[in-house]
Amino acid sequence: MSAPASSDLSAIVENIVATMAQETHRGKVASYIPGLACVPVNKFGIAIVMADGTVHLGGDALEPFSIQSISKVFALTLALGKVGDQLWRRVGREPSGNPFNSIMQLEAEHGIPRNPFINAGAIVVADVNLAGHMPREAIGEMLRFVHYLAGDESIVIEEDIARGEAETGFRNIALANYMRAFGNLHHPADLVLGCYFHQCALAMSCQQLAMAGRYLMLDGMLPGSGRVVNARRARRINALMLTCGHYDASGDFAFRVGIPGKSGVGGGILAVVPGVASIAVWSPGLNENGNSALGTRALEMLSEATGWSVFSAR
Ligand code: GLN
Repeated sequence: MSAPASSDLSAIVENIVATMAQETHRGKVASYIPGLACVPVNKFGIAIVMADGTVHLGGDALEPFSIQSISKVFALTLALGKVGDQLWRRVGREPSGNPFNSIMQLEAEHGIPRNPFINAGAIVVADVNLAGHMPREAIGEMLRFVHYLAGDESIVIEEDIARGEAETGFRNIALANYMRAFGNLHHPADLVLGCYFHQCALAMSCQQLAMAGRYLMLDGMLPGSGRVVNARRARRINALMLTCGHYDASGDFAFRVGIPGKSGVGGGILAVVPGVASIAVWSPGLNENGNSALGTRALEMLSEATGWSVFSAR
């Protein structure tokens, strides 16, 4: 896949920002996590980091937002570093075709979540990352890992978002206890959930997020810092993002956008064009599947304008 000239890409970004500003159907801001309900629906940001390090920013690209489930990508990367392929004994690798917080499927499949990007799967991943640590240490490790990936130590975890979710996250509490009953959670549910809610409460801007995604664009390499994961692992994480990154709308995202992407209910999406670009978009209004409505539309416009797609020879 090739990259358009830098000036062309700047014009494409400008056009996307202008088009999104006109949009009237902006989706609904998530309200089930208290701290998210008050985020203004008119926000839109985009950041593109190219393989050569060039950065294109548009709209509210520098404003931090709650990355929520996008953190599942970084948590998975950490967990694979700790236990490697053994992780796949406890979590599957198939699209769920169900909402991100479904309990039904977990029962039918004996407490083994379909993939690491639905909530149940991410809770197992958090359990793996907690092994040998106190929760505070595991949360600190996660934060330091994201600092390292983004090359930015100003990134923080919003305590109030984490606390609000702990107070209202009844479905996640149910999922965790359910898996504990099946023996697929090795630590007490409240400790694992403490870690999970904190990783979801990472606040990052589009620019920071696109920077943090560079290793997935570059076969596992982090410019200036060496290797994060080997090329095969980077490829596999991208494959999971493509097939599972948008929950029960993953097929539609692959159809419309055609590149690996991971969404969060804060309205962010991290998307990767292997070898070419790491992209982050943010708009807090969600569609019916819990994915950013404008974020998805913006990525669709971008892939249309650039020809970027893992299904294209262009
Ligand atoms: N913290 C959110 C939850 O567990 C993450 C969900 C999401 O971003 N899709 O419900």
